[in-house]
Amino acid sequence: EEARLLALEARYCSHGDTVHYTAPKIFDRCEGSYLYDAEGLPYLDLQMWYSAVNFGYGNPRLNTALTRQLNRLPQVASQYLHAEKIELAALIAQRAEKTWGASGRVHFNVGGSQAVEDALKLVRNAKRGKGTMFAFEGGYHGRTLGASAITSSYRYRRRYGHFDRALFVPFPYHFRGPKGMDKEEYGAHCVQQFARLFESEYNGVWDPKAGEAECAAFFVEAIQGTGGYVIPPKNFFIELKKVLDRYGILLVVDEIQMGVYRTGKLWSIEHFGVTPDVLVFGKAITNGLNPLSGIWARDELINPTVFPPGSTHSTFASNPLGTAVALETLRMVEEADFGAQVAAKGAYFLAGLEELKRRHAVIGDVDGLGLALRMEICEADGYTPNKALVDRMVEVALAGDLVVGGKRQGLVLDIGGYHKNVLTLAPSLLITREEIDLAIKLLDALLIRVTR
Ligand code: PMP
Repeated sequence: EEARLLALEARYCSHGDTVHYTAPKIFDRCEGSYLYDAEGLPYLDLQMWYSAVNFGYGNPRLNTALTRQLNRLPQVASQYLHAEKIELAALIAQRAEKTWGASGRVHFNVGGSQAVEDALKLVRNAKRGKGTMFAFEGGYHGRTLGASAITSSYRYRRRYGHFDRALFVPFPYHFRGPKGMDKEEYGAHCVQQFARLFESEYNGVWDPKAGEAECAAFFVEAIQGTGGYVIPPKNFFIELKKVLDRYGILLVVDEIQMGVYRTGKLWSIEHFGVTPDVLVFGKAITNGLNPLSGIWARDELINPTVFPPGSTHSTFASNPLGTAVALETLRMVEEADFGAQVAAKGAYFLAGLEELKRRHAVIGDVDGLGLALRMEICEADGYTPNKALVDRMVEVALAGDLVVGGKRQGLVLDIGGYHKNVLTLAPSLLITREEIDLAIKLLDALLIRVTR
């Protein structure tokens, strides 16, 4: 059966949307932290649909919220109202008031990239049509036209980003930064380099006569996701925001991958002491059940002059199923002391990774914030990126024949990073200590297999 399906896939599916490893996998069932193949073999998932399924596959409470809505009001056009949309917008906006003392509004869409487009439209119009944006090297904001334009990958931007101009600024990726500079120093250095752009009109972004920049906003991920789960220095965003404020540039924080407690806080930017002007969310807000995304923006920005009624509309935006699950998700996390649990599990997982690093020379770097964890795979020198080895790891992990505790099983891993040599680990936030122990044992077995 698997052979038949793979043959059909090879013939009839566009391959623009799939990553083909030499061991393609068809999954059959999922539960908790696991995916299962047709034979019933378990694969411990350490990537959870690119951090969309933060609360485990088949989370009973969220599934119940979905079916409740399914049986009551699953469909209604977005020009009419339903309680879940209103409650969700209020909850997100009130949370922002509590955290930052900032008042704002919420605008929904369906996928992450579409919400990024909404943020682009918003800041562009709020800043009188300025179409140039800053973004980070290694940043990822999606694959629609505008989102591709501000995503640094040359390959995708060149193909699909035929839109506004983006200027890419170095992110303080300390592990690959200049030797002999500590992490905070390197962060300060990156901010200084950015601030230099405004010293003279010859640097291309600042008109001293008009006293304005041509750029509307800086799109950031507080922790880079696809860029390899890179965690910046503690003070980096505080210093960066000072420069942005000086020159009237808006801060747009993309929380699509790192939001919803991935890092132990609702929004990952909360670790870094700055208030966004616009915040973009998606993925885990619905535990990956029914797509929903959106932006929160300050009142000054998201007003009827910039977004006139009906101007920024999509059929499935603010759909009842998505908003109902998102509402339940946020209520669930705010009820429990979720942040502390994620922080404790993350520290425990990271200690396991550090222990692996001591025993495997090919691990160049491990780091983590909450349950956003990274393992950088290198040559035996522990530094030169080794993409081939990490590809091999993913392939062997998916073959499902790692043996731990006498049981055959697999691992679901994903690759990120500037050199595509980083395992970006995003396990379920409900992962147990036993499952973390198992994850470390499986990674150990995998590393032994691919390096022996
Ligand atoms: N921004 C970030 C930070 C992301 O990680 C992603 C998805 N990986 C997107 C935007 C795009 O979201 P989507 O794939 O839902 O369009």
